[in-house]
Amino acid sequence: MDYELSIKTFLNKHPGYSKEFELSGNKHFDEFELSSEVTLRAKLLKLEEGINVAIENLETTAPQPCRKCLKHFTEKIKVPCAERIYWFHQPKEADLDEIFLVNLKTQKIDLTELLRQEILLHLPTYQVCSKSCKGLCHTCGKNLNEEKCRCKPEEPPTYKPLQDLKNILK
Ligand SMILES: [Zn+2]
Ligand SMILES: [Zn+2]
Repeated sequence: MDYELSIKTFLNKHPGYSKEFELSGNKHFDEFELSSEVTLRAKLLKLEEGINVAIENLETTAPQPCRKCLKHFTEKIKVPCAERIYWFHQPKEADLDEIFLVNLKTQKIDLTELLRQEILLHLPTYQVCSKSCKGLCHTCGKNLNEEKCRCKPEEPPTYKPLQDLKNILK
């Protein structure tokens, strides 16, 4: 597993002990596939009851369908920082869905679920391949960035002040 960290050295240290890791890895996640590997820094800090994990400068890219022309393009994703506690033991009064645990048997923590959540949160919500994307023709479905079609526009031609001015000057 790319996002597993050995925390062996943490186990017999006092709370306050910390260590940094540079990580890179896997672009396959359960519900999505990234275009490039994920890179990040993880700062681990030992607490009484677990290990605090702070990730920084996560970077990757994801294939996104353009909302106008449906073509896939690559979008940068950045997660500046995020934090979770990985508990040594299941805490009693906590929301069960959101618990991250240290695997005491293997003496490892697995960041995969944390990264999956943070990347999902940071996926861009409105994506277009470029500001000038012309989209698809509503009639024939052609990608108007790639070719012109002969369909008549559905709406009446828009008012073009510059064009009118040119005609006047002729
Ligand atoms: Zn587009
Ligand atoms: Zn058309």
